[in-house]
Amino acid sequence: MVNELKNKVLAGGSITEQEALQLMNAEDKEALYSAANEIRLHFKGNKMEMCSILNAKSGKCTQDCKWCSQSMFHKTNVEEYELVDLKVAEQQAKENAEKGVHKFSLVTSGRSISNKNLDQLCGVYKKIQKSTPIHLCASMGLLNRSQLEKLKESGVEHYHCNIETAPSFFPEVVSSHSIEEKFRTIRYAQELGMGVCSGGIIGMGESMEQRVEMAFTLRELDIESIPINILTPVEGASLKVDGPLSDDEVLTTFALFRFINPTANIRLAGGRNLIAHIQDKALASGVSAALVGDYLTTIGTNINQDKELFEKAGFNLGEHKCKHQPV
Ligand code: SF4
Repeated sequence: MVNELKNKVLAGGSITEQEALQLMNAEDKEALYSAANEIRLHFKGNKMEMCSILNAKSGKCTQDCKWCSQSMFHKTNVEEYELVDLKVAEQQAKENAEKGVHKFSLVTSGRSISNKNLDQLCGVYKKIQKSTPIHLCASMGLLNRSQLEKLKESGVEHYHCNIETAPSFFPEVVSSHSIEEKFRTIRYAQELGMGVCSGGIIGMGESMEQRVEMAFTLRELDIESIPINILTPVEGASLKVDGPLSDDEVLTTFALFRFINPTANIRLAGGRNLIAHIQDKALASGVSAALVGDYLTTIGTNINQDKELFEKAGFNLGEHKCKHQPV
């Protein structure tokens, strides 16, 4: 059954939800991972797309996302600042470009961003665009069309807006905004011709069926880059989980996301340290991209060590060409 469905995807077909659930229950998990790897090689080649992020505005968020250290509803030790030193942002982009990272994103906490802060960050993007070849992304919450237009005019090619989880599980973890509001921002960005990066967090208490639901929702939204974060529990946040996901659940999730979204970049994102012991296997289960360097509010990875790891796993780190070119 795994082979049959793999051949269907390789031939350009799409699997159904029913078929994804069959794959989820496949007895031979190694065969599932290796089939997902074949699909990745067929559609994405052996390129590893690396991106990095900078937390440009941290903490004091009015939203109640249960997992998040930046929510005002939680007592955490997260650093709080209104806006990063703009020179630091420019410098970080430059350093990442020099290390061969393909994409760089400024990320801000909050439901959305003020027009004043947006203008300041657009100024930074314009400077980065002039001085480095790195591709630019932004993650600034629920934006309207004109805010996204400003970003695009400043050189931002991709907008990031995680749907976070399955629509059926979203209300369990967020009540201050809806997943439909995220869909709207994603649609605006796509209508403007921006690439969209949207994924979420696994291990928040959702079921494997809900992870499949999330993957199909992303397919319907035609998302080209899907970051998968593994929950890092935060002390002081209101989300309580029974324990970490099993290795098998993590690898099966990567493989299923690849089967369901064969042409998307399936991106290893936050929580990589939690799966360090199976990282080689994760890289051979359908993954084609990774978030490198420090993550939003957790310490990340060393870029040079990551590059070694990816090359050892057979990936090529050469120049990345985006289909969304800077304006
Ligand atoms: S995930 Fe974003 S919107 Fe939600 S609490 Fe954290 S910073 Fe705010």
